Amino acid sequence: MQLDELDDLYREVILDHYRRSRNPQHLADAEVQADGNNPFCGDEVALQVKLNGRGVIQAMGRQGKGCAISQASASMLTEVLQGKTLQEAERLGRAFRRMMQGEPLQAQEREALGPLEALEGVRKFPIRIKCALLAWSILEEGVESYRRRQG
Ligand code: ZN
Repeated sequence: MQLDELDDLYREVILDHYRRSRNPQHLADAEVQADGNNPFCGDEVALQVKLNGRGVIQAMGRQGKGCAISQASASMLTEVLQGKTLQEAERLGRAFRRMMQGEPLQAQEREALGPLEALEGVRKFPIRIKCALLAWSILEEGVESYRRRQG
């Protein structure tokens, strides 16, 4: 798949997040730390989530390398999850997954996804869906592991 097969507007949003990744700083003291890769494409993503005392995401960090889709999706994730609880983050992750699988979304879910809607066109290229979902899968694993540690 080439990015120029996507609509211009969506391509611009994706490239903007790819070239100027949001929240690239590593948060060493974050409660949630997770990383993983997508062997089909060589993508790598590491995520950190810093919570405040009430379980709300107050900062995120992300690092990684790989294709524009995987890195833009991770960058967008760190932007839209600021100020959300982990439960809200998981709900948004499920909505994003449904969008990538071509299922209908409610208007408020689309609104909450913000820039992530730009990745919807990627679902025409099934092999790239894994790229778009990589950061979300990593986040889910990290949250599960955090909850196990909390007991
Ligand atoms: Zn990829």
